[in-house]
Amino acid sequence: MRDHFEIRDHDAAGRIGRLEVPRAGVTVETPALLPVVNPNVLTIAPSRLREEFGAEMLITNSYIIRSTDRIRDRVLAEGLHDFLEFDGAIMTDSGSFQLAEYGDIDVTTEEIVEFQREIGSDVATPVDVPTPPDVDRERAERELETTQRALADAEAAETGEMLVNAPVQGSTFPDLREEAGRHATETDLDVFPVGAMVPLLNSYRYAEVVEAVRAAKRGLDPDAPVHLFGAGHPMMLALAVAAGCDLFDSAAYALMARDGRYLTVSGTEHLEEMEYFPCSCPVCAEHTPAELREMEGSDGEGDGGADASAERLLAEHNLHVTFEELRRVKAAIRSGNLLELVDRRARGHPAMLDGYRALLDHADELERTDPVSKDAFFYTSHESARRPEIRRHRDRLARLEVPDRLLLTESNAPSTHDYDAVWRVKPPLGPFPRALSETYPLTAEVPERLDEAARVAAAEGVAALASANPDTEITLGHDGWSEAALDAVPDRVETEDLRTLGRSG
Ligand SMILES: [Zn+2]
Repeated sequence: MRDHFEIRDHDAAGRIGRLEVPRAGVTVETPALLPVVNPNVLTIAPSRLREEFGAEMLITNSYIIRSTDRIRDRVLAEGLHDFLEFDGAIMTDSGSFQLAEYGDIDVTTEEIVEFQREIGSDVATPVDVPTPPDVDRERAERELETTQRALADAEAAETGEMLVNAPVQGSTFPDLREEAGRHATETDLDVFPVGAMVPLLNSYRYAEVVEAVRAAKRGLDPDAPVHLFGAGHPMMLALAVAAGCDLFDSAAYALMARDGRYLTVSGTEHLEEMEYFPCSCPVCAEHTPAELREMEGSDGEGDGGADASAERLLAEHNLHVTFEELRRVKAAIRSGNLLELVDRRARGHPAMLDGYRALLDHADELERTDPVSKDAFFYTSHESARRPEIRRHRDRLARLEVPDRLLLTESNAPSTHDYDAVWRVKPPLGPFPRALSETYPLTAEVPERLDEAARVAAAEGVAALASANPDTEITLGHDGWSEAALDAVPDRVETEDLRTLGRSG
């Protein structure tokens, strides 16, 4: 039980939670986005991040502070919160990223955790090894051992009220990620970043991001706060939250702005090529792309000053659109339509669709935390036929009382019959007694022009009912189902095409 993290609402594996950060004296609502603040270049003042953008927490790099003479002594003297002029919670990274980039750093976990405590960090990070994707297994295992030693060193360190990250590594080996999650959960550390995701995120390998998160979550406690380290593109927030991530950090807003890139919920645009801004944030409401291009500082040579430059304005838009999406994700969790939002985002890029499909491969895991009742289920794509609700309905069917002779029919028309009972069939859910038709998810809104996936899913529901009730005589009245759907219906179920009987509708 982790008493500093409380989960309030669930949808799929996504949740709204409250992370208590005792050293900062604040409680942060999750999912939360932590803007990455470069201690050398404050693109947007941290006080503005809190007041104008609503950032309750940010992340900065203690390794950079420690190795930059100009600021180290000032931060040690003033403390991190005064130095950054930020009164929310501050997480600090340790130099692991630099280790991954340059192969060597001159600090141990013991030293850097101590330094993070001295400068007043609220959440510290040990020196783990972010093993990149696609390495050989031997390297992934060896580096995981180093990471596990770093977690032990962090546990042994004097940390007081400061929370400490326990990064979960394991490269692209799901079993190593799961084992790393289990090991991390057994420490007394507090927050669980899934690490080394940047190479996967940068190359849009969202299916593998989802696999890594799900593997880590299988090893972690269900109530552990999970941070998707390095993830902050608005396009993938809904997907990552639905997979079970609680914290995100965005360097993208500033890095992308430096290259003239404009973030949206369906991808990244180039300022150079834009004629219109599809956004109503203060920056986009007051400027046109042409105006931004004409401004000084849009030449991509970020000078660090970032006054009223196009770069800073672009960074502000990038942050606005990211926080807006985060609020939309939270609202979706509260309404129970997070998977509808993920489905919409999946249409923005084929790689996002891969991510959504990978998530649905784990529908059984999502089902465990998915609420029993929420706003109406919207069938918006054939991926909807694989949602956890469909599986739960099928499991529920097996527990229902069933008479000896049962008619299952897509027809709503009343008719005389000589069955013991007549149940409704509704793709993609399958059969159910009419008395349940006002309960979730049977109230699903489904298009009239159904696709094959919905009918096949309904046929699988018929098969599940038949298999749970081997002695029941079942007849299925269907509305012109294809061979593929009828193939999923067991042979012992008699089928009638309502269209040829003139009874459809
Ligand atoms: Zn905007």
